[in-house]
Amino acid sequence: MGEGGAQACPICGAPVKENPRYPDYVCGDCYRRVVDDTGRPVQYQNASPGYPNLIENLTATYADGSPYMTQTCYIDGIACRADEARFGGIVVRPLQKKGPWG
Ligand SMILES: [Zn+2]
Repeated sequence: MGEGGAQACPICGAPVKENPRYPDYVCGDCYRRVVDDTGRPVQYQNASPGYPNLIENLTATYADGSPYMTQTCYIDGIACRADEARFGGIVVRPLQKKGPWG
């Protein structure tokens, strides 16, 4: 664990591709499990026509397509924040560090 610069998901500890810019981004499985503060699943995506943007090139919706207008989300009860990644895509990171390394 942690040798050779490998990264682990801060939520579940799964190994993720190393990214020095985002050392605490969550893995793909956790990314797909994000919910709002009531436990309702939400999905972040790069902006698409017809949806209001949270920030440049980032939008979020519930499963029924209605907009979710905050970058804050939750995974296993841990508050996280979604951002547009510097080189495209989306990163979700915990607001506070918790998990395998405390
Ligand atoms: Zn994970």
